[in-house]
Amino acid sequence: VEEPIHDAVLGRAAGRGDTPALVDGTNGTTLTYAQVDAFHREVAAGLAEAGLVKGDVLALHSPNTIAFPIAFHAATRAGATVTTVHPLATAEEFAKQLTDSSARWIVTVSPLLETARAAAATAGGVQEIYVCDRAPGHRSLMDFLGTTAPEPRVRIDPAEDVAALPYSSGTTGTPKGVMLTHRSMATNLAQLEPAVPAGEGERILAVLPFFHIYGLTALMNAPLRQGATVVVLPRFELDVFLAAIERHRITALYVAPPIVLALAKHPAVDGYDLSSVRYVISAAAPLDAGLAEACRARLGVPSVGQAYGMTELSPGTHVVPPSAADAPPGTVGRLIAGTEMRIVSLDDPGEDLGAGGTGEILIRGPQVMKGYLGRPEATDAMIDADGWLHTGDVGRVDEDGWLFVVDRVKELIKYKGYQVAPSELEALLLTHPGIADAAVIGVYDDDANEVPAAYVVRGAGAGELTGAEVTAYVAERVAPYKRVRRVTFVDAVPRAASGKILRRELRERA
Ligand code: ATP
Ligand code: MG
Repeated sequence: VEEPIHDAVLGRAAGRGDTPALVDGTNGTTLTYAQVDAFHREVAAGLAEAGLVKGDVLALHSPNTIAFPIAFHAATRAGATVTTVHPLATAEEFAKQLTDSSARWIVTVSPLLETARAAAATAGGVQEIYVCDRAPGHRSLMDFLGTTAPEPRVRIDPAEDVAALPYSSGTTGTPKGVMLTHRSMATNLAQLEPAVPAGEGERILAVLPFFHIYGLTALMNAPLRQGATVVVLPRFELDVFLAAIERHRITALYVAPPIVLALAKHPAVDGYDLSSVRYVISAAAPLDAGLAEACRARLGVPSVGQAYGMTELSPGTHVVPPSAADAPPGTVGRLIAGTEMRIVSLDDPGEDLGAGGTGEILIRGPQVMKGYLGRPEATDAMIDADGWLHTGDVGRVDEDGWLFVVDRVKELIKYKGYQVAPSELEALLLTHPGIADAAVIGVYDDDANEVPAAYVVRGAGAGELTGAEVTAYVAERVAPYKRVRRVTFVDAVPRAASGKILRRELRERA
């Protein structure tokens, strides 16, 4: 798609007039499509008049609000690259991102203003800080509404110019700034559209953060491009989330595994009418097939499916279309149009594996990132000379093209020439009635063999559960090389909000 991202998303907004585009789920404030169109143009004009020029980096530091999409698309329309910042980042973390990205502008919200100021003071180089709302005596993007300044005349080259610079989640190391061009982002929206239509009449609940590429694409850009109504929540709180589904008659939920878990198991769910929901899509971390089915049955929805992607892929490559009745349990979906995939041997990356073979997932297509900002070696390690992005994820495809994600390559435990996927053992451990949560990593035994070690959280009423019982439970159900050799009881498994297990934290402890 050869269109700047703001045109790909809001190009049809003016024509949708009074259709509600964004609803604040906490107070009901609504913006129509005509308003979103007008406001983002006015803010773009205001930013340009304030001195923002093409190529400037603008840090958008905000929880989900109805102003977020306006700030984002105003900035790109004025020619900026938007780097989205975790609203809970400390001033120090924020300063690192400002320095790494050479940001010149910050857009934040009044409750986070002090953090933003402290970050800017540490980093240097920031010319101006705006808030999206109002803060006494402080510049606000709202001051630009109704401006008579002319629309900025910037020429954007969709194939080259970087629209967004989100940071990867930092699950495996330091978060990396990912350069996504206008073309990558706009094309990925178009690629995903036939599989997950979100047009007029559809009501989407935006509870996953917009600052992460998953929320930015699935909950903000895709529905606004297609004409749906987006109900915005600033954070996940189960009761508020359920009440919003009921009140706004939400039709589709895009979530991560911890929310699927709550929907499947939490008693509070029964107190709400969730009958408007037609499908649920989970992504960002492995979702157990049994849990997906439990959630589907409880909500009575036709489909609880998955999608797969990563920040470096703008982000999507696979999705289970809600209309697909034949998706096998546990799949993350089928390859979307205009994208190529290979599964290659973990021992010999030159060897392509056919259906049924388990290996590394390689992707080539227009949604592949331009590169990591300022990290040419990391970029070269990720994208080979032929343009294939090495995802670092292990998967296999069945005869019908459904992809199954096994685990990350780096997390596989190599025991005497065998490969053991920690996520498989974690899913098995969770089937034990006395285990509330579990994580598995590789540790070295006395003979220098890498062996699976489990970190287990005892469930309520499982006070007696012993390590020997846990190892025996696994041993009865898996091939001998997969047996858990060590069990440590812990109070909690370290996880990111997306449900990703932070195994590197466990390794540091080990
Ligand atoms: P970093 O690259 O900084 O270590 P990260 O890889 O967690 O962090 P993201 O880009 O947010 O950062 O996450 C992408 C990863 O999430 C994928 O590489 C994959 O491992 C995982 N993932 C995404 N969707 C799924 C899914 N449906 N099932 C299993 N894993 C998934
Ligand atoms: Mg990654």
